[in-house]
Amino acid sequence: MSVPPELIERLRQAGHVVVFTGAGISAESGIPTFRQAQRGLWARYDPQELATPGAFRRRPELVWSWYAWRRQLAARAQPNPGHRALATMETRAPRFDLITQNVDNLHQQAGNARVIELHGNLRRSKCLDHEHPVPDWEQLPGAPPACPVCGSLVRPDVVWFGESLPATAVTAAIAASQSAEIFFSIGTSTLVEPAASLPFLAAAAGALTVEINPQATPFSSQADLVLRGPAGVILPQLMIAAWPG
Ligand code: NAD
Repeated sequence: MSVPPELIERLRQAGHVVVFTGAGISAESGIPTFRQAQRGLWARYDPQELATPGAFRRRPELVWSWYAWRRQLAARAQPNPGHRALATMETRAPRFDLITQNVDNLHQQAGNARVIELHGNLRRSKCLDHEHPVPDWEQLPGAPPACPVCGSLVRPDVVWFGESLPATAVTAAIAASQSAEIFFSIGTSTLVEPAASLPFLAAAAGALTVEINPQATPFSSQADLVLRGPAGVILPQLMIAAWPG
């Protein structure tokens, strides 16, 4: 696939580049998207039923063990060429914001210094009742431990279905999207609200919007440019075209 020359030129000249990512960018690192995750041992569990506060209260061992499995997958995974291209992009753009829905920490591992985490991070834990941050420990399947401060159950520090997103991250993501000159929507189905609104906000505020995804999404028809294919292939091509050598 060749990168549109218009995009190369705009990327070189842009003062503010914003990238918004979803589970698809980590697919090439071996981390399944929710739609792909219906395999193997966990195939009979629906993420929409496990990733909720109610599910954790009803079946803490099951939910904690599902997260222990996801955390292990993420801990073994390595950033792929798509993540690495975005780490380089951060060093080239005068102003750069990376907004992610992912909880796998792979952007940070690739070298992106400032990541707006909309849905938390699998590496962190907090307690259920008071959100006391609980220092990192190995998350093993089985019963969740108790908070050392208040004794309530420890849970992953991620946003579950039905919970609000962290206000600071949302404010930063909206501000970045509305002032972007170029806005990339990468590897996200743009179905999970409120994050899914960000590409539309950027488009309404006048950014050049670019979708990178092998499949069509509800945003595809509004994007200025659509690059169909895997992010791990397209992003390195784009970076080489914009900044050869
Ligand atoms: P999603 O599962 O709804 O959609 C994934 C999108 O990625 C799809 O549109 C798919 O076509 C696309 N895709 C697949 N392979 C790709 C590739 N190689 N390159 C580019 N795109 C590719 O994911 P979502 O939109 O992020 O929303 C689901 C929710 O699931 C989010 O809230 C997210 O927090 C959570 N989640 C996160 C992870 C992770 O941290 N890696 C994994 C699974 C789910």
